[in-house]
Amino acid sequence: MVDLMGGDARWNIPVLDHGFVALVDCMPRFAPEGKTGDAAIVQAARVSYGQGTKQISEDRGLVRYLLRHRHTTPLEMVEFKFHIAMPIFVARQWIRHRTANVNEYSARYSIVPDRFYHPTLDAVRKQSTSNRQGGDGTVDSGTATEFLALLDRAEANYKDYLRLSEQGVARELARSVLPVSVYTEWYWKCDLHNILHFLSLRMDEHAQMEIRVFAQAMFELIKPIVPVTCEAFVDYNLEAMHLTRLEIEAVRSGQPLNSTNKREQAEWEAKRAKLGLGPTA
Ligand SMILES: Cc1cc2nc3c(=O)[nH]c(=O)nc-3n(C[C@H](O)[C@H](O)[C@H](O)COP(=O)(O)OP(=O)(O)OC[C@H]3O[C@@H](n4cnc5c(N)ncnc54)[C@H](O)[C@@H]3O)c2cc1C
Repeated sequence: MVDLMGGDARWNIPVLDHGFVALVDCMPRFAPEGKTGDAAIVQAARVSYGQGTKQISEDRGLVRYLLRHRHTTPLEMVEFKFHIAMPIFVARQWIRHRTANVNEYSARYSIVPDRFYHPTLDAVRKQSTSNRQGGDGTVDSGTATEFLALLDRAEANYKDYLRLSEQGVARELARSVLPVSVYTEWYWKCDLHNILHFLSLRMDEHAQMEIRVFAQAMFELIKPIVPVTCEAFVDYNLEAMHLTRLEIEAVRSGQPLNSTNKREQAEWEAKRAKLGLGPTA
């Protein structure tokens, strides 16, 4: 969908209650007639391989070869620029991806808008027992209600934030009364190689749901521009799996995994399920 905000042409996908991922620019802007942005990757790879591309001359085959063999620099010839609004706790995870160029809204310079991430009652997750870093299912409704009431109280600080700012407290300090559920926004520009790395980590089921939905929106926005690369990314990365030496040995010998580490064993069982092997006998 094309949305016009502040005079910018953009493709915009709303995310969570107040967030969005908007694609505002990309490179290549030009592609040969009938071709997609994947052409820029093929063009760069052909320079690098020269005569060697004779064996893999078909564009789609070449892109898929590059992704299978982790020959990634041609992917860096494609760039995307996004405008994103997300809760601060999501931004903290996001900013760990160091290869992007970022310009964030300044809460020292401007008043923070009144936007807070506020999940619905049935979206309040329970602490996972199997994954210390994750949530699982929903917590009982009494506890969820208490949690949401606490969020309401934290959001009510916004009035005091405005009042204190008006009374002369510096914005850079006054903001510290706001919770990490408040939204921030930034422009985020990154090349396709590093975007795929970001998506691989943040579309994964181990990533927190609140950042996963942003990553999924980003993937939807780039798919029409580099469809061949995105398809290869799903085939060779997102839906693929890595087997360790111990796991390969277990498959070959038909024996249980040669490890006493419980987490490693659980990971192996999950991979067996994905491979349709059934649980270890
Ligand atoms: C599910 C999950 C849980 C996480 N939990 C935690 C946590 O508990 N605590 C925590 O602190 N972080 C956590 N992280 C963040 C994680 O450790 C990484 O910082 C983050 O995923 C960024 O990964 P990256 O460094 O590969 O990416 P980027 O910063 O985008 O870098 C891309 C690639 O560039 C290269 N690169 C970039 N900078 C350097 C450098 N300085 N030196 C060498 N190579 C470089 C590396 O090859 C890197 O993989 C978590 C991430 C995920 C996905």
